[in-house]
Amino acid sequence: MHAYTLLAPAKINLLLEILGDRTDGFHELVMVLQSVDLADLVELRPLGGERIQIHCDHPEVPTHESNLAFKAARLMQQKFPGRGGVSATIHKQIPVGAGLAGGSTNAAAVLVGLDLMWNLGLTQGELQGLGAALGSDVPFCISGGTALALGRGEVLSPLLDLDQLYVVLAKYRSLAISTSWAYQTYRQQFGHTYPQTPTALEQSRRQGPSVPMVAAINHRDLTQIGSLLYNDLERVVLPQHPQVQKLRDQFLQFEAKGALMSGSGSTVFGLTETRSQAETLAEQMRSVFPDPDLDLWVTKLISSGIQVA
Ligand code: ATP
Repeated sequence: MHAYTLLAPAKINLLLEILGDRTDGFHELVMVLQSVDLADLVELRPLGGERIQIHCDHPEVPTHESNLAFKAARLMQQKFPGRGGVSATIHKQIPVGAGLAGGSTNAAAVLVGLDLMWNLGLTQGELQGLGAALGSDVPFCISGGTALALGRGEVLSPLLDLDQLYVVLAKYRSLAISTSWAYQTYRQQFGHTYPQTPTALEQSRRQGPSVPMVAAINHRDLTQIGSLLYNDLERVVLPQHPQVQKLRDQFLQFEAKGALMSGSGSTVFGLTETRSQAETLAEQMRSVFPDPDLDLWVTKLISSGIQVA
């Protein structure tokens, strides 16, 4: 059995629209998800017995059963018993509690890596089916690229690749936002506006911002894409965290093609056409926000999900 090292990219949301409640307790979503070239490295090695060991160089990432990579390994052992144990070493580049699917992409890497290590020959669809049980973003993280995501996020349709465009990511290191807090708060504040019947739900899906966004992506119209960026969770996170709102406003003043909070935050991104524009934008942001707690990354949009490194 071989060891494998996998590249596990982060994602940003170009769109996150909350349609309503599902009977399984999750939210019904419409999202446009996009992989970026900020990535963790996940090294998998075979271990004796049925042991699962997680190592991570980031102090805030748990190394026990609550790590999503651990859950992914345990799920694979349950589905394919007798294949042995695994050690996963996660080299974190993706910030934690950032709305960048850091945990989900690590879990996706473990699924893809164990499929290879155990020579299972699973299809991407089968791996995504397993991933859906671990978290809503895991199926997307496996295939990556640019995709429309419906349901809880697990019903995926690939869209035209937006690779070669750039985003500047901005996140305060000390500000992590809990995804469950953001969704629960949204339900408390806006639950009364959710459509109450399946027909009303379908209607709001058809009238929502995803329809023009998909058209803009298909035309690779960056100005349109920038103007259509949308995230319902900004409605609860930005009033609570004005420093995140300031980052978003500043990106727009510096003429990013568009700016948005990703997922439940706290990362905000500004979209540009070229690397040099992104580098200039990052420098401008740094000059206005010299706070050493603010991290900035210049990243490229990419067309792939989990890859063998
Ligand atoms: P998402 O966009 O999926 O909500 P996020 O970036 O907001 O992701 P993560 O960084 O994935 O959030 O993780 C948030 C929480 O999950 C943290 O409290 C962290 O301790 C826990 N966690 C569990 N496994 C991992 C992992 N492999 N990497 C990072 N965080 C993890």
